[in-house]
Amino acid sequence: MESFGHVIDGEEIFSESGQTFTSIDPYTGEAWAELPLGGTAEVDRAVAAARRAFDEGPWPRMGRAERRRIINRFCELILEHGDELALADTRDMGKPITQSRGNDVPRTADNFRFFADHALLTPAEALPMDTGHHAYTRYEPAGVVAAIAPWNFPMMLESWKVAPALAWGNTVVLKPAEDSPTSATILARLALEAGIPPGVFNVVHGYGPDSVGEALTRHPDVDRITFTGESTTGRIISAAAAANLTPVSLELGGKGANVVFEDADLDKAVAWSIRAIFTNSGQVCLAGSRLYVHRSILDAFLERFVAAAEAMVVGDPKQPATQIGPLSSQTHYEKVRRYFDTIEQEGGTAVTGSVGDGLFIHPTVVTGMPEDARHQCEEIFGPIVTVSPFDTEAEVIGLVNDSPFGLNAMLFSENLSRAHRVAAKLDVGTVWVNCFFIRDLRAPFGGVGDSGVGREGGSYSREFFTEPKAVVMQI
Ligand code: NAD
Repeated sequence: MESFGHVIDGEEIFSESGQTFTSIDPYTGEAWAELPLGGTAEVDRAVAAARRAFDEGPWPRMGRAERRRIINRFCELILEHGDELALADTRDMGKPITQSRGNDVPRTADNFRFFADHALLTPAEALPMDTGHHAYTRYEPAGVVAAIAPWNFPMMLESWKVAPALAWGNTVVLKPAEDSPTSATILARLALEAGIPPGVFNVVHGYGPDSVGEALTRHPDVDRITFTGESTTGRIISAAAAANLTPVSLELGGKGANVVFEDADLDKAVAWSIRAIFTNSGQVCLAGSRLYVHRSILDAFLERFVAAAEAMVVGDPKQPATQIGPLSSQTHYEKVRRYFDTIEQEGGTAVTGSVGDGLFIHPTVVTGMPEDARHQCEEIFGPIVTVSPFDTEAEVIGLVNDSPFGLNAMLFSENLSRAHRVAAKLDVGTVWVNCFFIRDLRAPFGGVGDSGVGREGGSYSREFFTEPKAVVMQI
């Protein structure tokens, strides 16, 4: 078995208490990596190291160009170690290697590169005042950042938090998800190799409640908490943060609606809708898991959509041809399986889909599900999509918005006016028109309602990871 330690104050350390946990490859069912199980002591050490590096170390005081130079070296190392990083995520949680190698590794490097550039290049505000005074803004680093990540895009979502935090001169303690912990240690090793000073980027492994996650979010010496995960966990973290008045950014669950109008380009709508629900076996916060198709094209759409779902290659995630891997863990499989097993009981019909060996569920397309059924309202986080007809634009806007979640929606239409009109009326953080998951790192990213609090990306990340300061001068 391979070993991956905590990384605290520039050193990789293994368990001093002797407590460890393993990462299980969901395809083989075997434990492939062993990690130290951290607790309050490790969190205290890591936060103290991050505090020292912030108060006394060179990182926050370094010029932004110098930080960018070091972060760019880190990016090069991420790309050089792309195979190792991709395999780590694939073994930890079953993501097809073409996705982890072809998408997540370059996106991880891009996140670091983008935020280093952004910190260097974005101007601060200068505000000449009518009174003759002159005001300007300074973006001071916030301090010690606690970053808590989920398992579905391990390194990619970790970099989405760590990159802006580092680029703006903060120090970080990252807690990766217990189901996908290994790439975080590799990233921290590479950060040290790139010249990021000890104590600036720390990683502590462990669980959430009564463990590292809880200790980090309750820690009084943490200045920012950035969290991605379930909405229920977001509520707990929000309450912990409130006790210390720690600012918190929450990227939470979703129940993405995907609307196909009668004037859509059907081939494109089918291809994107397949990606929207079945990428990463549906384990995507943005997944288009509620598909609404105009009644007049429902049959034509379904015929192509089901054929495309059935054509997907399900299998060993380490094989380049594989499009659908196993679900990420036994626990998660059991959760998704309960949804699969209750499709008929809830009133739906599975047009296609089945349970495979091990932790596999094949792409499953469900019709006839009532709007108030659990499958239609709750985040399944697996390869199960419900397809429902609609008749009018107003009706479908109501259906999309009738959800406690509001992360994203997709709409397919060749009518430009309709696309803008509908996009404006949807209560979500992101609307994708005739596409899915296309990102501009400058754009706001986040959710409405139970899907989150705050926005990240570009200047939105700057606002969160800095203390903007106004300097007002009498001239
Ligand atoms: P989760 O909430 O179970 O866990 C996420 C992280 O929080 C893990 O590292 C976990 O150990 C930690 N944690 C759990 N309980 C905690 C506590 N009480 N205190 C502190 N930390 C705690 O989520 P998950 O199952 O790992 O991830 C899937 C969820 O993440 C889905 O709901 C998905 O929609 C959401 N997600 C959202 C986005 C987004 O950008 N909005 C992106 C990816 C995933």
